[in-house]
Amino acid sequence: MKKVVKFGGSSLASAEQFQKAGEIVRGDESRRIVIPSAPGKRFAVDTKVTDLLYTCYELAEEGQDFSMEMQSIKKRYQEIIDGLDLKEDLKDEFAAIENRFWEKAGADYAASRGEYLNGKLMAAYLGFEFVDAAEVIFFDEEGAFDNDKTNKVLSKRLEGNAGVVIPGFYGAMPDGRIKTFSRGGSDITGSIAARAARADVYENWTDVSGVMVADPRIIHNPEVIDVITYRELRELAYMGASVLHEDAIFPVRIEGIPINIRNTNDPEAQGTWIVQSTGQKSKYTITGIAGRKGFCSVNIEKDKMNSEIGFGRKILQAFEDNEISFEHMPSGIDTMTILVHQDEFMHKEQNVVAGINRLTHPDSIEIEADLALIAVVGRGMKSSRGTAGRIFSALAHANVNVKMIDQGSSELNIIIGVRNEDFETAIRAIYDIFVTASI
Ligand code: ASP
Repeated sequence: MKKVVKFGGSSLASAEQFQKAGEIVRGDESRRIVIPSAPGKRFAVDTKVTDLLYTCYELAEEGQDFSMEMQSIKKRYQEIIDGLDLKEDLKDEFAAIENRFWEKAGADYAASRGEYLNGKLMAAYLGFEFVDAAEVIFFDEEGAFDNDKTNKVLSKRLEGNAGVVIPGFYGAMPDGRIKTFSRGGSDITGSIAARAARADVYENWTDVSGVMVADPRIIHNPEVIDVITYRELRELAYMGASVLHEDAIFPVRIEGIPINIRNTNDPEAQGTWIVQSTGQKSKYTITGIAGRKGFCSVNIEKDKMNSEIGFGRKILQAFEDNEISFEHMPSGIDTMTILVHQDEFMHKEQNVVAGINRLTHPDSIEIEADLALIAVVGRGMKSSRGTAGRIFSALAHANVNVKMIDQGSSELNIIIGVRNEDFETAIRAIYDIFVTASI
C-alpha cells in the first residue's frame, strides 16, 4: 500500500499544525510521499506566506526595500523551527532567495519559495528525503505542464519505498526557470505524484472534513459527502464548490486513483472519497448542490426559428466575435436563450446585440441581468424518479420563481436559473427537501 499525502497551507501554518501533520504521517507507514503547501493562515485575518512573497517580489521589482516584509516571512518559518525543536537554519536559504529577488528571478520563483522552504522543514521534521520539485515537475517552453516528461522522471524517482517530501505548487521550465501552477496548485502536485508513484490513494489533508453537500456559508453545518465521482465533483467545482484545485483530478484520473479529502484537525473523520466510478448510491439521491450568482440571459425570438438552418450557429457567432463564452443555451421552437457571465458580458452588451441583429434579424432580443445558476448534481438521479419534481415543488413552496431549467442527457445534473436575490433561499429549499428531510 502506498499513499501520497498532501497538506494544505492551513494544515502547516504553525508548529502546532505541523505536529498534527507529523502524527498523521507517522500514524500510517504507507504514507511515504508527502507534498506540503506553504504556511497558510493561522487565523482569519492572517496573511499566507505565498501572498507575503508576492508582495516582497513586487517591491523588489520596483527596486524598493522589502526587508520588513521578508522579516515577517522569516519569522513565520522561525516559529515553526523553534516550535518543533528543529536544528535547521534557513539563513543561507534566505540570503540566496533575496539575491534572486534582486536579480528579478520572476514572481513564480518568488511564490514557489513558500513551498520550497516548508518542504525543507517538513523533510527535516519527518526524517524524510527532500526532493526539489524543480527536479521532477516540468513545464514546456510555453509554460504548459509537461505530463510525459514529468511522469517519466518522477516515476523513476519515486521507485522504492523511501519517505520523500516534494514541495507542491511549482516545477521548472526547460531553461531551469521556476514556474508555478495557478493558486492552490499544490493539489495538482499531489495528484501528479500519486499518478507517478501508482499510489493506492491520494490523501489531500485540509481544514474541512471533506466535500460538503452545500456551501457552509449558506447552509449551517452541512452534511459531508462520503463518496463522489470525479465527474460529479467537476460539476460542483465548476459551479463554485472549492475544496480541491479543479485541475487536480486529471493526473489521478488517468490511473483511476481515488482521492481522499481529510481534515488535519479531525483526523478520525473519514472525509470524502473522490472516485472514478462507484456502485455506492449517494446517501440522499442528490450528491451535492452548488451555484453562482452574476449571470445574464439573452433571449432571442424569431418566428420559425426552428426551420432556419444555421440560426444557432449565427447567434453563437455574435458571442464568439466578442470573445464571450456562454454557459447554457436552453431553447424553444421560436426562442433561444444564451446564459453568460454578467461581468464578461455587460461592457460588450451592445456589440453582441448589434451582431445578433446583423447576423440573424430576430423579432426581439431581451436581456435580463442579475441571475444565479444552481447545479443540483447526483449520479443517483439517473436511476430514481421524481428528483426534478421534488426540486421544483420545494422551490415553489419557498416562493422561488424558476427562470430557467437545463438537464443534460447524462442526467448527472439539473441546472436551475433563479434571480440573484432568491439564490440562498433556493439552495436552502433544495438542501432541506433532500437532506434535512431524510436525516
Ligand atoms: N501556496 C500556494 C497558494 O497559496 C499554493 C497552494 O497552497 O496550493 O496558492
